[in-house]
Amino acid sequence: MPKATYTTHLGMVDILPDESPKWRALENIIHEEAARFNFEEIRTPIMEQTELIKRGVGQLTDIVTKEIFAFTKGDSNYVLRPELTAPVVRAFVQHHLAQRGGAQKLYYIGPMFRAERPQKGRQRQFHQFGLEVIGSDDPIADVECISFMMRIYQRIGIKNFTLKLNSVGDPESRESYKNVLREYLRPNFDKLSELSQTRFEKNPMRILDSKEPEDQEFIKNAPVISDYLNEDSAEHFALVRKYLDMRGIEYVVDPLLVRGMDYYTRTAFELTSPDLGSQDALAGGGRYDLLVEEVGGLPTPAVGFAAGMERLLIACEELDIQLADEKSIDVFMVCLGDEAREWVIEILPTFREQSISATMDYKGRSMKAQMKEANRQNAQYALIVGDNELASGKFVLRNMHESAEEQLSIDEIIAKLKS
Ligand code: AMP
Repeated sequence: MPKATYTTHLGMVDILPDESPKWRALENIIHEEAARFNFEEIRTPIMEQTELIKRGVGQLTDIVTKEIFAFTKGDSNYVLRPELTAPVVRAFVQHHLAQRGGAQKLYYIGPMFRAERPQKGRQRQFHQFGLEVIGSDDPIADVECISFMMRIYQRIGIKNFTLKLNSVGDPESRESYKNVLREYLRPNFDKLSELSQTRFEKNPMRILDSKEPEDQEFIKNAPVISDYLNEDSAEHFALVRKYLDMRGIEYVVDPLLVRGMDYYTRTAFELTSPDLGSQDALAGGGRYDLLVEEVGGLPTPAVGFAAGMERLLIACEELDIQLADEKSIDVFMVCLGDEAREWVIEILPTFREQSISATMDYKGRSMKAQMKEANRQNAQYALIVGDNELASGKFVLRNMHESAEEQLSIDEIIAKLKS
């Protein structure tokens, strides 16, 4: 058989042993903070039925039209999940989570898949953490979402960012605003980009987040939704801002921040960082009061956010933030001779049972090679075991960082390492 060769699949990245500690550190922070906020973890499958994602993310979004990895098996159509709001809402509906009472405060961590053009900060398999609060339309739900999101960056030490905030209104406010927007844009319809022209009838608000150069001058002077919010939406937005102010969370109101689909309502927010280059969005979210119904549930208000984990880690790198401690082990056992090696093989589990991280050389090499390995593994101590040590019951414990040695019994060594 010919030897297998593997090409690098652009946009799909291996997380190698030197990288995984910082991923784990980040995940631990997310789990810890979620526990403090009393959010519960949810894990849903990597695959979802295509129909759900089309409904839940929106037929007209870039994600659905261009970016989903879709395939068919038998009579069913599947996609690799491109995001997790729709799947979490599906799970909420399917498992009647509303019956647990109160608002469901569900967070997640995991891989997502989008067939985008790979570049720094943009992968085809990437990771998000996020939160969905389903079953409350109280502005405190919006603010708790934002607080949780900000808390993660704050705890890590990423401070240089902008929180953009807007309200896209409820359906009534949006209808009146969309009409105003269409009337404003109509005289220049022919000058709009092709993409914006296709969005003009169904989704004119999406034109506001167009990146096409020919749209910019029209976007700049467009009427803003905040002038067209009805009383309910305006009051909701005012309370979100008030609670953010009460918590000292800074934001800028950005009237161009829109969420495209009709089931997105009221609050919209985005966190961007100047440390990220062109892919500068760290996280985004907002309220989606009409989505649960769209996915087949009862009308249920909800709000959430999703944050890119690769981008967070890129920001850490730019800012020289070490998320994980340098890898180390407590003790590396160095054995001289066969008898010593067998003794070490037997004693190793005892150390581990005492919560001491301990290992030995797996290759039966020379003492010099074993000491070198102890160094490479960044061992705090080397425990040197030879015939004399076995006979006397006193072992040499070498502090690898201070190059100091002590002679101790095994019980003394375990007690010392545990402390
Ligand atoms: P979205 O669901 O598009 O609002 O994305 C939420 C966050 O996920 C973004 O702010 C990014 O930080 C991150 N993200 C989205 N797409 C990608 C991607 N292709 N590669 C890496 N991170 C991404």
